[in-house]
Amino acid sequence: MDLGWTPYGPARHIARVLFLLALLSGWLTGVPSWAGIVQDVRVQDDRIVVRFDTPVTQASSFLLAGPQRIALDLSGAAPGGKVQAGGAVTAIRQGAQDGGARVVFDLARPAIVTEGRFGPDGRTLTLQLRTVDDARFARAAAEKRMSFLPPLTYLQPADRLAYKVSMPIPRRASRVPLPQVYGDASRPLVVIDAGHGGHDPGAIGAESGLREKDLTLQAALAIKDALLASGRVRVALTREDDRFLVLQERYGLARRLKADLFISVHCDSAGNPEATGATVYTLSEVASDKEAARLAARENKADIIAGIDLGTQNADISSILIDLTQRETMNISANFARLLGREAQPLIPIKANYHRMASLMVLKAPDMPSVLFETGYISNAGDAAFLASREGREKVAESVRKAVEIHFATRMAAGSKRPDSPAL
Ligand code: ZN
Repeated sequence: MDLGWTPYGPARHIARVLFLLALLSGWLTGVPSWAGIVQDVRVQDDRIVVRFDTPVTQASSFLLAGPQRIALDLSGAAPGGKVQAGGAVTAIRQGAQDGGARVVFDLARPAIVTEGRFGPDGRTLTLQLRTVDDARFARAAAEKRMSFLPPLTYLQPADRLAYKVSMPIPRRASRVPLPQVYGDASRPLVVIDAGHGGHDPGAIGAESGLREKDLTLQAALAIKDALLASGRVRVALTREDDRFLVLQERYGLARRLKADLFISVHCDSAGNPEATGATVYTLSEVASDKEAARLAARENKADIIAGIDLGTQNADISSILIDLTQRETMNISANFARLLGREAQPLIPIKANYHRMASLMVLKAPDMPSVLFETGYISNAGDAAFLASREGREKVAESVRKAVEIHFATRMAAGSKRPDSPAL
């Protein structure tokens, strides 16, 4: 079946697949293929307008005190172009920063960013400024970054898809039955996802022959036991045996159960057999480093190998990306990731910089705090032996139990256990 690019009927489906392929080829490797260049930066009255030659993927701003400045980070954009200061801004400087551009605005008087908005084509970003007093500026400077996401529609222009692909697309799989939930109904629910399974073994240890899908299931079962023994939470597993689930089904099951926390368990793998230690990943559309990008490419590959309906996933990705409510979920996830790393540190080999970010499909539920726990390297003899041992599994489970207990105790102390609450 040869399906060309048209915006109509079943071909829209193909368009989604093409779009996802475009994402996989650029975004997931951490090198956006649509990286743009800043064309110009202008300040008019209380407004900063930044224009790019092509759309950028994300922007965020924060304030710096002493002297008072506004910094704007643009992911997937290179610095360049003309600048024109004005209003409260006396000077504008640009530089390269972490694979993007940073623009710094020197201020003549304290001013804060109240809003940021991308134009419909993703090529302009307008920041609204408000002049404030020094005290208000200091308060705003202590706050977190403001993030601005462009609308996604522009990411699928026809001229970027100047090729055809032919591929059979199977029907969407019927709904997977909900797994059993263990524990006291009054408790918050943690869903543990054992990575890979069935025809997808995940990574395989070169020397040991161990398969990631077996280690993740054993770890998930040990975590379930430890959490149930604590009695503080309910637990469900996305799989309790050797079966294949697509990534969307994994977080889909957890969402249908209205889980309060989702933990996907995996084992890392690297060409370098010396690489060792656990890592906790949370979702970011921009990978924190090359290794994180490679990991995302590998973990996200499960669905492509399976030849499932990519189109249904793409719908999720677009709706999620434009959903700013996901920011809060991402913050809670990041807090849990740091907590898990902290609790795991005395128990298992873990990387010094254990919290990383990547565009991992299994973490894309917009309203459910989610982390991916790479428990160690199956490609490292020491890590593999540890993870395959009963003692190793129990220590992994203990790390998760401690972090989960503190996480929910903190959230309940703050008056809420719902993931949609801003309290932490
Ligand atoms: Zn994996």
